[in-house]
Amino acid sequence: MADSPLFERVALIGIGLIGSSLARAMRRHKLVGHIAGHAKSERTRAKAVELGLVDSIHSDPAAAVAGADLTVVCTPLGAYAAIGAAIGPHLKPGSTLTDVGSVKQAVIRDLGPHVPEQVHFIPGHPIAGTEHSGPESGFAELFQGRWCILTPPAGSDEKAVERLAELWRRCGSMMEIMEASHHDQVLAITSHLPHLIAYCIVGTVTGVEEATQREVIKFSASGFRDFTRIAASDPIMWRDVFLNNREAVLEMLGRFSEDLAALQRNIRWGEGDKLEELFTRTRSIRRGIIEAKQA
Ligand code: NAP
Repeated sequence: MADSPLFERVALIGIGLIGSSLARAMRRHKLVGHIAGHAKSERTRAKAVELGLVDSIHSDPAAAVAGADLTVVCTPLGAYAAIGAAIGPHLKPGSTLTDVGSVKQAVIRDLGPHVPEQVHFIPGHPIAGTEHSGPESGFAELFQGRWCILTPPAGSDEKAVERLAELWRRCGSMMEIMEASHHDQVLAITSHLPHLIAYCIVGTVTGVEEATQREVIKFSASGFRDFTRIAASDPIMWRDVFLNNREAVLEMLGRFSEDLAALQRNIRWGEGDKLEELFTRTRSIRRGIIEAKQA
């Protein structure tokens, strides 16, 4: 049973970092029969064939999903509504439609209206990634030991949810099921806000005069370097994350701004004990992440 394919035919819409990693993991663990792929550009479609990620490639997304038992949307969020309209009428009755997008309520808003009644719609999000993009950047181990969250709408078919969860488990993921709104709040804190802060800090530095900028690069190992890794993440993907998780991100940003103002005051008034107390607390968070093997 462990080696039998879970889905005979899978359609991947988008074959970048996440789509190509999923293709590699599904192949390695023999989880699926045929992988049909679609990506926007001819270049990516050709690369997917060259890398052996797909068994068939399609310039039309509707052709990719035809006859698929599982369709996985792996594009930036901004493309979802148009993709939903293109593939909706061609999804096979009884099949499952899922995705890997970093925001979940917007996915239900954009894909949901296009999903036929007989299709199981189970949005998902693997909490795994790197700052790289494109089909060359993927690898089969990306999901190993990482969480994957599914946000099935109320009344979803339990067997379909379990089958999809099993696919992710066999790719190495640990599974969690939660409501889409809760997912978006949690990810606003753990992922979206940190990315926004990194983009902001690196942006601030690009605003300083040229001579200082040269020194920033030279002495970047003193802290700046770690922010630049996160701030090198895909611009389109992250533009879409912020536009599509607006409320939760703005709420967290409000809290962050208050905390930053408090730190500013602590420094101004020489309140070293308050700084030390905070830095001691934050250090223990890092230790907790290492203990949970998520470092
Ligand atoms: P990526 O490497 O940039 O790949 C995106 C893929 O989508 C490419 O194959 C691209 O094709 C295709 N695409 C873009 N617009 C399209 C359209 N209109 N129609 C059809 N295909 C289109 O991105 P990624 O990092 O894999 O991210 C994909 C999704 O995963 C995003 O929704 C993101 O929120 C989510 N996610 C990302 C991470 C991460 O760390 N990167 C982690 C978890 C979840 P072309 O190359 O031809 O443009």
